[in-house]
Amino acid sequence: MHRPIYLDCHSTTPLDPAVLEAMLPYFTESFGNPASNSHSYGWEAEAAVKLAREQIATAINARPEEIVFTSGATEANNLAIKGSAEANLAKGRHMITVVTEHNAVLDPCRYLKTLGFEITVLPVEQDGLLDLEKLAAAFRDDTVLVSVMAANNEIGVIQPLAEIGVLCRERQVLFHTDAAQAIAKIPLDVQAMNISLMSLTAHKVYGPKGIGALYVRRKAPRVQLAPQLHGGGHERGMRSGTLYTPQIVGFAKAVSLGVEQMSVEAERLASLRDRLHKALLPLGGIQLNGHPTQRLPGNLNLSFEGIDGQALLLALQPVVAVSSGSACTSAKIEPSHVLTALGRDDHLAYASIRFGLGRFTTEAEIDQVADHVKASVMALRAA
Ligand SMILES: *Cc1c(COP(=O)(O)O)cnc(C)c1O
Repeated sequence: MHRPIYLDCHSTTPLDPAVLEAMLPYFTESFGNPASNSHSYGWEAEAAVKLAREQIATAINARPEEIVFTSGATEANNLAIKGSAEANLAKGRHMITVVTEHNAVLDPCRYLKTLGFEITVLPVEQDGLLDLEKLAAAFRDDTVLVSVMAANNEIGVIQPLAEIGVLCRERQVLFHTDAAQAIAKIPLDVQAMNISLMSLTAHKVYGPKGIGALYVRRKAPRVQLAPQLHGGGHERGMRSGTLYTPQIVGFAKAVSLGVEQMSVEAERLASLRDRLHKALLPLGGIQLNGHPTQRLPGNLNLSFEGIDGQALLLALQPVVAVSSGSACTSAKIEPSHVLTALGRDDHLAYASIRFGLGRFTTEAEIDQVADHVKASVMALRAA
């Protein structure tokens, strides 16, 4: 039996074989604790972590000391949001974020609300982009942080980071961005974009699960964070816990490979993505969710009119692994908060499919998927 074609790269990506190869020695012979400074086992691990830190910093134009390793983007977001809230109580208790953020940003904000913080959640336009004038109007004297994601995990929309960075810098407000979907997919530059805090993860970019990082600006201005994990004082006190050397090495390898191939791969993916979109257009009654050009090259999120979303997902399952625009939360199916934020009615939000193309997606696979989606939609509409 063939397994379905994998087009769910916004959920996670397969490990690149070159990444696995880079990681392997650090599970076995080079198993030392990077914090052990009295013998060569520790030194070896420490050298590997140092190199990895440099590689990840380089990818976003940061300095190695500004990279704090975490278990992934969820933890990085929690550290950025709760850590900056706690460290800046003297300045205020107000934060600004956006309705289409990942729950790993929205939930820490909701938590802060229960502690008495005020959170402004900005809407987006119909194309998923943030209106900069609405952002400018939301700042207050007691605003501590603005958190806006780099690229959306459902509709791929890329927010105008540099412009947001300027607004934040002018007002001396911290700017955090969740770049889980963006790292090594689109150019990121913490200097040019005036970013104070940036969350990263390895497993969306052909690296291992369970490792990520938070970029924490050290200069102009230095960002203060209250640690959320206390212990041995690792990562300059910001995140205690023994560093996970194999994962860190794999993360850096994945990021380096991604950055190396970024522009060529972006072109290839966008062309495959457009090929799939064009093949489906003759069906009619298809709406593209998200901005037509300001989005990740591997993202195609479509709503299909006149069909039941769950029925479509079921029909696609044997041939292609994708996600729908609805999620099961506490046993009931709810339309995605991202699609409803675009103004899609519930029915169209349910009847949406997110195609996430990746490094190992081929043209033959895209053609096979296009044929199957077409046949499935026609059959469901005829039923
Ligand atoms: C996947 C994802 C996360 C969560 O990252 P983990 O490393 O799995 O914790 C957060 N934000 C966005 C935008 C994501 O796509």
